[in-house]
Amino acid sequence: MNTLNGIVTQCEKLAFDLSFKRARAWKSQEKDRILIGHMPVYFPREIIHAANGLAVGILGGGDKKLIIKGDAYYQSYICHIPRSIVELALDKHFADFDGFIFPSICDVIRNLSGMFQLLGEGKFVKYLDFPQNFVSNIGGEFYRYELQTVLDEVYKLNGVEVTPQRLNHSIGLFNINRNLIKQLYDIRQEFPWRLSAADVYHIVRAGYVIPVEEHNEILTQVIGLIGVETGSPMDKIRVLVIGAFCEQPPVGLIRTIELAGCYIVEDDFLLGARWIQGDIETNTADPLKSITGAYLEKSTFSSSVYDVGNPKEARLLKLIQQRKVDGVIFAAPSFCDPALLDHPILQKECNDKNIRFISFLFSENTGQFKVIKEQVGTFSDSIKLWDEPLANDKL
Ligand code: SF4
Repeated sequence: MNTLNGIVTQCEKLAFDLSFKRARAWKSQEKDRILIGHMPVYFPREIIHAANGLAVGILGGGDKKLIIKGDAYYQSYICHIPRSIVELALDKHFADFDGFIFPSICDVIRNLSGMFQLLGEGKFVKYLDFPQNFVSNIGGEFYRYELQTVLDEVYKLNGVEVTPQRLNHSIGLFNINRNLIKQLYDIRQEFPWRLSAADVYHIVRAGYVIPVEEHNEILTQVIGLIGVETGSPMDKIRVLVIGAFCEQPPVGLIRTIELAGCYIVEDDFLLGARWIQGDIETNTADPLKSITGAYLEKSTFSSSVYDVGNPKEARLLKLIQQRKVDGVIFAAPSFCDPALLDHPILQKECNDKNIRFISFLFSENTGQFKVIKEQVGTFSDSIKLWDEPLANDKL
């Protein structure tokens, strides 16, 4: 039986292996296996799994990659993640990848997909448009067409036909994966001292670069290990961190928030892995329709999605209520338009409902956390010392 520390260490190595060794080793075991890289935020990995592929999350270089060439590709006033992804590409970290998916979240990602085409990365590059219309026979059909074009490209690579049976099987495995991650978050909500937020981050992020079957085993073991008491609670406030759904915060930042007197009980760091809320219907004759239907009806909220008829501020309040948090930390990447355009709306809602919040910016390679530690520490102290607990009926 592995120890919790052993599993977390293994996950940390996997999560930040910018050579993608595990994914490459997996691919080398069978002739028709393929690797498809995908950028944040969300991509239905089930369809690649069903085609005997591994969808590998490309989340940037974080603070593990020195950016030299990548800076030359972009102006100074945009976020950091495309620079590190270009740097990784130029340094041949994606040499064994067969294709790349760029989900439509902002102009930066759109431009990055163009750069990958110019650089000749992979055998196909797909800018994947998500529907802005949430009516099944309009937005749903459009999205289905988009996914089918991905499947057509993949078929050209390895000739594996995605049958309903194969796709239903893949959907089932990812349903299990999301359920297990939800259980992890639910246990942390009750007992956040049993596993740090940085540990959770490493465990979930490892799932972006290894087969889902292996990740499900890891999650099952972790849930078993934190199902029993492993420590004791500390005098910390409970916070929700929001804004880091695309460019990832450095792990040092996550640790700093918890060291400064907070338990992070909810976040949007690796939102793609938890994007669909609940199960996708399985064992159907048309599983692609189940995937598109789930996107239309069961997506979480994010600044990267048009929230027609389902305002994000109301959904944020609901999440605050569910996770019983004491305050909100708005932490967005510098120059992230989607996050920064939404934050005033969400912060106004917090103000109106008397919910305490603070706000700061980061970059994936931020290395100095002193100022953030002081800010978060003051936030935590002020809530502990002077604030009334949030009553749910006030929300
Ligand atoms: S961090 Fe924000 S602006 Fe940058 S690519 Fe991601 S969503 Fe776009």
